[in-house]
Amino acid sequence: DEASSEGLRWKYHDPERLKDVDWRLSLLSQLDDAIDHGQVWVAFQPQLDLRTNLIRGAEALARWTHPEKGPISPVEFVTAAEQSDRIEKLTMFVLDKAVAEAARINREYGDFDMAVNLSARMLTDKSLLSKVKEVLDRHGLDPARLTLELTETAAMASGSGTAPLFGLRDLGVNISIDDYGTGLSTLEYLKKIPAGEIKIDQGFVKSMRDHRSDLVMVQSTIALAHSLGRRVVAEGVETRELLDMLVAMKCEVAQGFVVGRPSSVNDLTKRLLAERKRRVA
Ligand code: C2E
Ligand code: MG
Ligand code: MG
Ligand code: MG
Repeated sequence: DEASSEGLRWKYHDPERLKDVDWRLSLLSQLDDAIDHGQVWVAFQPQLDLRTNLIRGAEALARWTHPEKGPISPVEFVTAAEQSDRIEKLTMFVLDKAVAEAARINREYGDFDMAVNLSARMLTDKSLLSKVKEVLDRHGLDPARLTLELTETAAMASGSGTAPLFGLRDLGVNISIDDYGTGLSTLEYLKKIPAGEIKIDQGFVKSMRDHRSDLVMVQSTIALAHSLGRRVVAEGVETRELLDMLVAMKCEVAQGFVVGRPSSVNDLTKRLLAERKRRVA
């Protein structure tokens, strides 16, 4: 599961701790201050367009560097925040940073798509639409350059139904179904959600070379998505070999360590600059 797979990379992330109510409450009580005091920041992971072999966008990922506890995994603090209204401040913080950078990158480097994760809880916020619009307007970003990622289970469990998603779609924002294949995905559901993109969960992608069932899952998801006119992003692409397999399968976009790790915006900008120099050379 997500928590244990992340555990390998996060020294301070202990799946047991997720169940610890005191730990959660202490994280929650510190989160707002941590945001205000610059302990929370946004990392950007590049997304590779497999048709052009160029970086076409990035996913914004929340990071918390705690002064005493060191890096805390988003799996811990996002999960805690989602169970309270703290998720609103965190979401708007990440959205604001991501949209600001996307607007700058679009001005300096041309078309660039920015993906931001949206918790299901945010869908119950009646002012979500106006908040998203305000951020886009303030930074001058074309809504078509913003993608909001939602997990399938999250969207279904939101209780508010899919109406807010149609509002966002009408605003011109793209909707992506994150971690596809891990939730209770039904064809019916896929038809109902106005998503232009499906993001295949990294669990399937990572093992599709060695496990036939995972390969079948990836292949059939790509076929299904394409027949519904949706674009496919594969996440967790860790090797060159997996990247080549995805190209052969006509997957549109790849995200994963072989393309690039989540990094600072400076590293992302350097990468775009190097790519542009290579193109004009
Ligand atoms: P996600 O949205 O599915 O993001 C992908 C996760 O996979 C990220 O973990 C990323 O660092 C990791 N990853 C990317 N490529 C690879 C790879 O090749 N191999 C492996 N092993 N891992 C890879 P991260 O940053 O720890 O985030 C975990 C989850 O926390 C995210 O999963 C997302 O659900 C949530 N999250 C992160 N930031 C935010 C946020 O701002 N808002 C909300 N609501 N959720 C967030
Ligand atoms: Mg995501
Ligand atoms: Mg995902
Ligand atoms: Mg995930």
